[in-house]
Parts: sequence; C-alpha cells; structure tokens
Amino acid sequence: MKILKTVRGQLTFYFMLILALILCVFSIVLYNMFATQSRNQVDKAIIILAGSIKEEVTNEGIQQDLFDEFQETYVPFSNPKQQFIELIDDSGNTILKSKSGFNNIHFLEKEWIETALKGKQFFLNTEASAKDQELSQSEFRILFYPISYDSKTFVIIIGIPLTNLESILSKFRIILLISIPIFLILSTVFGWILSKRAYAPVNELIKNAETITASNLENRLPVNDSGDEISELTKTLNGMIARLQNSFETLKQFTSDASHELRTPLTILKGEIEVALKKPRSAAEYESTLKNSLEETERLQKIVDGLLTLSQVESGKLITEKEKINLKEILTEAVSKTNILAKKKNINIILNLDDSFINFNQIIITGDRNLLLNVFINLLDNSIKYSPAHSDIVCSEKIDGENKMILISIKDFGMGISSKSLENIFDRFTRADLSRTREINTGVGLGLAIAKAVIESHNGKISVSSIPGEGSTFTVALPYLS
Ligand code: ADP
Repeated sequence: MKILKTVRGQLTFYFMLILALILCVFSIVLYNMFATQSRNQVDKAIIILAGSIKEEVTNEGIQQDLFDEFQETYVPFSNPKQQFIELIDDSGNTILKSKSGFNNIHFLEKEWIETALKGKQFFLNTEASAKDQELSQSEFRILFYPISYDSKTFVIIIGIPLTNLESILSKFRIILLISIPIFLILSTVFGWILSKRAYAPVNELIKNAETITASNLENRLPVNDSGDEISELTKTLNGMIARLQNSFETLKQFTSDASHELRTPLTILKGEIEVALKKPRSAAEYESTLKNSLEETERLQKIVDGLLTLSQVESGKLITEKEKINLKEILTEAVSKTNILAKKKNINIILNLDDSFINFNQIIITGDRNLLLNVFINLLDNSIKYSPAHSDIVCSEKIDGENKMILISIKDFGMGISSKSLENIFDRFTRADLSRTREINTGVGLGLAIAKAVIESHNGKISVSSIPGEGSTFTVALPYLS
C-alpha cells in the first residue's frame, strides 16, 4: 500500500495499532474488574442472607414461616421474585422452601448436598430450568451453607438468578465492542488530519527543494523562524545548497581556467604545424618546428599533470597512507635536490634547523612523504627562480608549542611579490607580476596551489609574506606528534 510508505501513513498506522492495543487491554481489565466486583457483591449479599437465616434458626428454631421474611431480601443484580431458599435436613430431604416459582432443588446434584452436609460451605454456578418459561435456562449462583441446630446438621441452600448480572455484563461487552472500533476510527481520522497539518511544512519543503537545480543554486529555501525540526532541517539544507553552489562554482572556475590555460599552448602548437605544412621546408626548419612543438607539448603535459595532482589532492585521493615522517630528513632531501639549480646561480641554501631549544630530530609528523617533499622542492625551486645570483635562501624552523605546530619558513632575498599578487598567490594558474618575470621561465602557475592543497590536507597552513624588491618568506605550519 502506497499510503503506508509515507511517514505520515506509517505514523498514523502505528498510532492506531498502539491505541487499539491500549483500548483492548484497558477494556479487558475494566470488564474483568467490573464483573469480579459485581459477583463479589452478589456473594457477599448471599452470605449475609444465609447468616441472618442461621441466626433466626438459632434464636427461634425451625419455624414453618422461617423464609417468609427472607425470601424477597434484596441481593444486588437479582430479582427477589426469582431467588429461592431451601432448608435440607441431615438425610438430604427438604424441610422448608421459599415460595419462589422454581422447582427449587430438583436441578441440584445430590453429591453437592452430601458435601454440604459434611460441613463444607461453598458456592457454585449452575443452570436451572424454571416452571416459568421466561426464566428457563437462567444461570444461578448457589450457596450451600451448613448450620448446626439441635445437634444435627442442616444445609441452607440459597439460589440467586444471575440473569440481571449477565444481561448487564453482556450489555457492557456490547458497548465496549461497539465503542472501541468507533473510538479507533475517530482517533485515526483525527490523527490523519492532525498529521497532515504537522506534515504540511515538510510537503512545502519538498515542493521548494524540487525547484532548486544546478542552474539556480543561488536560491535558498525559505526558513520559518519557529525553531522546530523543520526550520533546522531547512537551515541544514540551505547550508548544503551553499556548499554545493561553492563546489559548482569552483568546478566551473576550474574548468574555465583549465581550458583557458590549455588553449594557449594548443593554439601555438596548431599554428606551428600549420605554418610548417604551408610549403616544403628544409630539414632545419622542420627541426625547429618540432622543437617548438615539443616545448608546447611539454607545457601541456605539465598543466595536465598539475591539474590531475591538484584535483587528486583536493579530493583526498592522493594521500593513500599517512606515515610517520621526520621533517628534517625531508627538508634535507629537498635542499639536496634543488642544490644543483641553486649552484647554477651561485645561490647558497642555508639549512638553519638546529635551534638550541628544540631537538628537531624529535619532531615527528604524520603524512604523505612524497607529497610533502614535492611541496618543499617547489618552494625552494621558486625561491631559486625568483632570486638574483649570489644570494642566500634561508630555511629555518620554529615551534608553536601551544598549538602543537612546527613552522618551516623558506626565506629568499629575491624580487618579492607585490601586495596585489599576494592576495591570490595560492590560486591555480597564478603567475604574479608577469611583466617583471618575463625573462624568467615561469611555470604553469599550479605549484603553489598544489602546495596549499597538500598542506591543508595535512591539517596544516601555508602563508607568505613578501616585500617587493627585498624578498619573500613562505611559511609552512604542520601539526606534530607530541
Ligand atoms: P610557477 O609554476 O609559475 O612557479 P607557482 O604556483 O609555484 O607557479 O607560483 C606562482 C607564482 O608566484 C609564480 O609565477 C611567481 O610569480 C610567484 N612566486 C612564487 N614563489 C615566489 C618567490 N619565492 N618569489 C617571488 N615570486 C614568487
């Protein structure tokens, strides 16, 4: 059933089920309590009646009119005209009987009387047929009440028809059987209507959420300020839409940046080949075309590789295993790998890692060794690229004990970066202050973006400070294991 698949349907169904169960249990308990209580009342009244007769016999002896004053005594739920009393002597014969319309004891079994004559007082229920047609088959509550008189045992038998009690109980049963389903149906209908009201904001939310697509991610779901679960859910959904919008925009920007960057080398490549094919060329001309084409192809490859690395780091796919790393080893390796380039420009890389107050060897971080190594190689590479010959590059560290971070800075005394370029220096395809760096073979502008993604994926931070004409300092902060 489709309706049962909705939360509203399920809620109403379970509500109905629980209510039905509670009503049934409650009715059964109520009915039983009422029935037991009523039967107890009847029994008590019969015992009192028997007690009074006994007293009368003890005081006055067995008189012929003994039962006259008792035969119409009020017993709850009974009709005095239908109740009977009999007195049985020790041989089982009836000595006295009330003037009820019954055939009295003819329906009582002999063994009951015998048991009573042995001195046992007891109640039982039995059916009696009466002379009177309308009383036939009525159930009787019968008390066998032995008494001693004149050193003999007699039994007072009192029979009370339960017709009235049974008809009250059966009416009670019918009322319960009719009222429970009616009550159930009514409360289910009310429950269904109420849940419709309660779920109206959910349906509203569904309708509004359906209107949001990739093309209108700037839209938000209307939030009501009731502070209920629905408004919380709406706020959460709005937060999710905002994050999606952000990712979409980043993706769009990424695609447009990437295609823009790829277009230039591709256009150059196409132009080179078209010019070469226009007329027959000498071997030297073809060689030069091929060399230029190879350069552009290499650039294309760098861009594609860089983009792939960046997207893998950003999506967290590249850091497969985080191992324990000694940062000093990584820095030493990065310096030795970039030293060849530095030596060509007579640049001196100073590894200034042994501050007296910390033992750098003991600083261990967790992360991906190769990715971190590439970050430091890239930073050193840039410093060498943008520093004049015969200058220094200083690599030093600092501990931020409070935040449990190790700070590695790489300081050069090169051309520096203008404050305008500093704002987006870590964005992909950023090549700062291009006019000043024209003579330098700049990269594709992805190195710092990758460095930032790698450091952030290690829960670290990368920052830069720079004074144009004086130099730049790149600082990497990484959390260490204590
Ligand atoms: P690239 O591959 O172009 O070096 P990066 O992302 O590594 O790409 O660097 C982006 C830009 O930041 C560079 O083009 C350069 O203009 C600037 N830059 C990076 N490091 C330095 C530095 N140490 N000194 C001056 N400018 C730098």
